[in-house]
Amino acid sequence: TGRSAESLLEGLNPQQREAVEHTGGPLLIIAGAGSGKTRVLTNRIAHLLATGQARPGEILAITFTNKAAAEMRERVEELVGPPARSMWVSTFHSACVRILRREHAALGLRSSFSIYDSADSQRLMQLVCRGLDLDPKRFPPKAFSKRVSDLKNELIDPDEFARTVSESNAYEANLAAAYRGYADRLRQANALDFDDLIATTVHLLQAFPAVAESYRRRFRHVLVDEYQDTNHAQYVLVKELAGVSTTGWEVPEGDATHGAPEPSVVPPAQLTVVGDADQSIYAFRGATIRNILEFEEDYPQARTILLEQNYRSTQNILTAANAVIARNPGRRAKNLWTAEGSGPKIIGYVADSDHEESRFVADEIDALGDSDGVKPGDVAVFYRTNAQSRSLEEVLVRSGIPYKVVGGTRFYERREVKDAIAYLRAIANPDDSVNIRRILNVPKRAIGDRTEGALAWFAERERISFGAAVERYEEIGMPARAAGAVGEFAELMSGLRELLEAGGSPAEVLDAALDRSGYLAELRASDDPQDATRVENLAELHAVAAEFTASDPDGDLVDFLERVALVADADQIPTEDGGDGVVTLMTVHTAKGLEFPVVFVTGLEDGTFPHQRSLADPDQLSEERRLAYVALTRARHRLYITRAAVRTAFGVPNELPASRFIDDLPTEVLEWRREESSMQTLRGGWGGGYGSRGGYGSGGGSRRSDDGDFSPAYGSGTRGESGGTGARGGRSDLTRSFGPRRTDASGGAGAAKAQADVPTLAVGERVTHDSYGLGTVVSLEGSGSSAVAKIDFGSGGTKRLLLRYSPVTKL
Ligand code: ATP
Ligand code: MG
Repeated sequence: TGRSAESLLEGLNPQQREAVEHTGGPLLIIAGAGSGKTRVLTNRIAHLLATGQARPGEILAITFTNKAAAEMRERVEELVGPPARSMWVSTFHSACVRILRREHAALGLRSSFSIYDSADSQRLMQLVCRGLDLDPKRFPPKAFSKRVSDLKNELIDPDEFARTVSESNAYEANLAAAYRGYADRLRQANALDFDDLIATTVHLLQAFPAVAESYRRRFRHVLVDEYQDTNHAQYVLVKELAGVSTTGWEVPEGDATHGAPEPSVVPPAQLTVVGDADQSIYAFRGATIRNILEFEEDYPQARTILLEQNYRSTQNILTAANAVIARNPGRRAKNLWTAEGSGPKIIGYVADSDHEESRFVADEIDALGDSDGVKPGDVAVFYRTNAQSRSLEEVLVRSGIPYKVVGGTRFYERREVKDAIAYLRAIANPDDSVNIRRILNVPKRAIGDRTEGALAWFAERERISFGAAVERYEEIGMPARAAGAVGEFAELMSGLRELLEAGGSPAEVLDAALDRSGYLAELRASDDPQDATRVENLAELHAVAAEFTASDPDGDLVDFLERVALVADADQIPTEDGGDGVVTLMTVHTAKGLEFPVVFVTGLEDGTFPHQRSLADPDQLSEERRLAYVALTRARHRLYITRAAVRTAFGVPNELPASRFIDDLPTEVLEWRREESSMQTLRGGWGGGYGSRGGYGSGGGSRRSDDGDFSPAYGSGTRGESGGTGARGGRSDLTRSFGPRRTDASGGAGAAKAQADVPTLAVGERVTHDSYGLGTVVSLEGSGSSAVAKIDFGSGGTKRLLLRYSPVTKL
């Protein structure tokens, strides 16, 4: 096995080649989507190995998901054979866990430390806030959790934060106290939260120079994919691992082996980072686009390589994506092009409702299968938020199209699975307070809040963990009944720990925990059908554990729990099984780095995508735009964009205007399969003065409607003075003139009548709405086609209505 170095350069363009062959100082590859960044990174690793510039053990490569890591390792293995196995290719979190499991002693952690997911850490924060007697309304634990996470990502520890806080600011002062309490409790529980994995590793490397040096000696090449989404802590981690001081890189050009800054005698590793500032979509998690924009400032000797040829998508798809991202201010312009040819046009579809949108997606997947041999596994459907998957699922189930939802209510977040995992964590780590408290009375074993409180109080007094307090319950002097119950629980746990120490596999320990605790028996005895599903999920968890042992016979319970803790959404993406595969449903965030022959981007409405909360904030809007760019650039051959005129969220139907991103798409790459919902056509006709897109433009004519018949556009309306704004994105009148399918008298007449009374609303006026009833206009914004009225419907709530679509009538 093994490929010649030369063959690793075959088929690459000159810039890609240069990136693969580069030696010396830091290398930044900055390029648009689909230009081969990940491929170059992979080939670069293989090339380093094939040319003998590096041994596999000297390579540390960071990817964004475990799945991407596995794929990269596999590809490198294909290229250079089994030695690839000793490379470290992993996510930031996995790499840190690996380092921390080896170096735990230096930090005073036991190697069995627990990893708290966000639910665990929120629960812990709740306990801490309760302990501090903080009013949850004024000082919400969830908000505190988020702030603490941000602080950790900025590498600000509790002491440092406390120093910056003035006592007169109650909120900040309490936050500082909660942060400290939270950190103490975590330590007591021998646990780390997700953010700690990174921050603690940084601390380890900074506080223990010998440890840092051993890793610097080891990793001579550090390569990072998706660099645009690293946060500050990750950024510093990379610098520490590569052995580059944060203040500057002091090595003379072309000489990486001498003159490294004191005190380390190890020269800096060769650092390669790859990213695209236009795809930075994790600012809300503390990622800073600055890391990539200022890389050259931070590393003055860095070589920067730009890649502009895209190998993934057709020109039409790229033209669309380029047009959307071009509107972001302050970006470095780049122009992606492809040699692939224009390909089919992007298909647009406007549905009446989210349900109908889903039906279009399902029908189209079916039709593509018949006409083009597209397999379910070729197709991905994206949405902005997880909640949007439900209606898609309903329709796909009914259509018999196999699919998988990636992310959302993840398997590991289900109650019964969390309970089972809590048992395992509590068994593996006797100090894991959050998980021990979770299962203390699950299933019910008559340990009430009072008893739990007594245990917590005792733990506090003795400065021991909650788990240790459980073991010493006899010293507390609880009432006999409570003591008896706690005693039984303590016995249960110690029996399970004995099983583990005797070499029980994760699956065996799991089975014993669920049996001996009575958890399974209780579910089995229940006649709630949900509980039957829960039993199935636990069986699935057993299968996961058994599979883990089969694939890694030396792996113990701690390893298994680590695997479980680090599954990311994208890791659940179905892999090719040789069959036709399944349609993948996921959020755009999860889709980063991936590609699919056919992509549907759904829910393109202002308020859905871009997200409602971004509409008033230019920075957030820029991030939404980058997200849209990521979405569009996942498609290889066919791209669909859809929206619903009315979307039901939390049971409330909302009328939403087209996404502003649709407006940016150049007309020549877009073909509307259906440009107006029938509802809009009928209602929209009402708003002639608002530049309605209702289809009575002066062009008249006819247009193919969604099911292929031709129907006349009704051309009687006069376009109001603001009609021009209705020609959104410069579409011609002709493409906008789409007639309603319903040519029956009632529909037509209704529409015609509606056109006649165009209300010019004023604040304070009384109106009626078909579904919401009587209301008062609270405020007005925008004009023309985007005029929006905020109307108070009393008990019906206050709604923001886009007048273009909304049949309100003045009283
Ligand atoms: P993203 O920004 O979405 O992460 P990327 O820049 O990492 O994209 P890759 O995923 O590496 O892009 O490449 C996109 C596609 O183009 C892949 O299918 C890859 O195999 C292919 N590709 C990259 N370079 C070449 C090349 N020189 N010749 C042929 N195909 C290529
Ligand atoms: Mg990539």
